[in-house]
Amino acid sequence: MDRLKCTTSNCKHNLYDHCNAKTIVISKKAACDSRIKRAGGELEQTFEELETVVESLQDAPDEVVCDFDCIYNAKRKCSAVAILVSDRIFATKCRTKIKN
Ligand code: SF4
Ligand code: SF4
Repeated sequence: MDRLKCTTSNCKHNLYDHCNAKTIVISKKAACDSRIKRAGGELEQTFEELETVVESLQDAPDEVVCDFDCIYNAKRKCSAVAILVSDRIFATKCRTKIKN
């Protein structure tokens, strides 16, 4: 995967829409199971971003393990070139999914 953009406002792995996890897991319902909420919430993320050099952030995790029944799912690995992840009401989900 070349690029993963995640717009969540509260995850320890997220800075400026970049995900710095090495591996993430997307569930059967397309939710990101690797999300870890920050103790200080959105505000903590905003302050950490202010101290971050954007160029130092990685473009995508090394691996996206996925259990959603999607056309890009190749034996539990995401084969899409790029994906978008964003906050929904009850979870943070992959928005690139296309059901098989
Ligand atoms: S993709 Fe998942 S682990 Fe990565 S920043 Fe977004 S919510 Fe966090
Ligand atoms: S695009 Fe499909 S295979 Fe890739 S992470 Fe999203 S739901 Fe899983």
